[in-house]
Amino acid sequence: MLAPAGRFAPSPSGDLHIGNVRTGILAYLWARTTGRHFRWRIEDLDRVSPGAAQRQLAEFEALGVSVDGPIVLQSDRLAHYEAACRGLEARGLVYECYCSRKDIQSAPSAPHAPPGAYPGTCRNLTESERESARRRLADAGRAPALRLATDRSERPVEDALLGTLTAHIDDVVLRRGDGVWAYNLAVVVDDGDMGVDQVVRGDDLASSAPRQALLCDLLGLPVPAYAHVPLVLNPAGARLAKRDGAVTVAQLTERGFDVWGWVGTSLGFGPWRGIDDALAEFDPAGLSREPTVFDPPPLSPAESAPGRR
Ligand code: GLU
Repeated sequence: MLAPAGRFAPSPSGDLHIGNVRTGILAYLWARTTGRHFRWRIEDLDRVSPGAAQRQLAEFEALGVSVDGPIVLQSDRLAHYEAACRGLEARGLVYECYCSRKDIQSAPSAPHAPPGAYPGTCRNLTESERESARRRLADAGRAPALRLATDRSERPVEDALLGTLTAHIDDVVLRRGDGVWAYNLAVVVDDGDMGVDQVVRGDDLASSAPRQALLCDLLGLPVPAYAHVPLVLNPAGARLAKRDGAVTVAQLTERGFDVWGWVGTSLGFGPWRGIDDALAEFDPAGLSREPTVFDPPPLSPAESAPGRR
């Protein structure tokens, strides 16, 4: 039996900014203060920047975060995604989709579905229609995606901060046309295998939770407890980004910025001096639900030079 765990699962597409670091710290505090292990997963199926995964982990370790169990790399786990997909396929729940993004945008949406939801175009094609679509795609150097055939458009999920999440569910992509296993399938299979029963992550992913819960149901996995936490915004009210200024922990520390102090106060607690204060004071009930604005110091010319990570 795996120990119940929370986790952080950053994509190693570059260095983390202070908003992402704050989310990871929250995932850690929430796990530890509820008696859970804390696991770390590198979501490297896509967009990998060399060295970023190592720097992300080292940064958390330097902040005092301790990780349990082996670090999990998604690129090592392709056989598990394949097996999960084959299991769904054996139950008639998977079909090939030949649509491009443009095809989906221009297709009329299904009744009651929000714009952009997949209307099921390829779900009921005949074998000869499939053959010709496969040939058309192969001529263009593409391959079909795989989608989940679902009759459910909703799978409500309880969120500790946001209440009931009811985002619409369409026929979720399981494997992309470029052969890469889709985020939603990989997350669910990994969390299940890692004993993750608590998912704390940015609220930009809240709309993914219902489809992930549906995949859990279909794969016989327990649905984790979810908490989608507010993102940090820039002064213009948009999601904080690296181009906004000095936003990585390294850049801010170089400038004498008090990272722990800011994390504590921005979450609605006192200024924290370090991880021990955070562990002693953190309480989900006291967590600020207001968006936090961060006005970063400007980058130096050397930092903003093209080619710099
Ligand atoms: N890898 C995702 C990200 O960096 C997070 C996935 C998740 O927490 O489910 O945004």
